[in-house]
Amino acid sequence: MILFPHIIFGSALGSKLQNPIGGLGGAMLSHYFLDSFKHWDYSIENLKKFVKNEKNKNLKSAAIDFLKIILDLSLGFLALSLFFKNDPQFFLILLGGFFGALPDGLQVLHFTFPDNKVLAVHQEFHDFMHFSKKEKLIFPNGILSEIAVILIAILLFRL
Ligand SMILES: [Zn+2]
Repeated sequence: MILFPHIIFGSALGSKLQNPIGGLGGAMLSHYFLDSFKHWDYSIENLKKFVKNEKNKNLKSAAIDFLKIILDLSLGFLALSLFFKNDPQFFLILLGGFFGALPDGLQVLHFTFPDNKVLAVHQEFHDFMHFSKKEKLIFPNGILSEIAVILIAILLFRL
């Protein structure tokens, strides 16, 4: 799932659960749960090839993939800032968004440091929870589940 819904949902959970450790843990766990639904993802294959230092790596296409991630992340945190900058829980809301997106950050770290055992175990779990990786959905297929996640997160915020 792209990062935007992960960030919004993680921040909603993070701000709702009274205990910050439970809330932020819940935000992170929500990531694996949401990834299990059929959804659309943009490709980051070129970035993967680049960090894995594969023969056919290409700096320009890797940079484009990296920009997609930065744009996706920025939009998520920009949305949170627009709506919640005056909220007394603003910091917790941002942290929730961070923890909601964190598993995908760990994934990029895993591609960069494939020998790290902890990252490898995490990757296995992430892949296990993710809906079939072989099934690549072409946009706009799979976008509905992501819109649904954003709507549910908005409802959560309003509870
Ligand atoms: Zn993920």
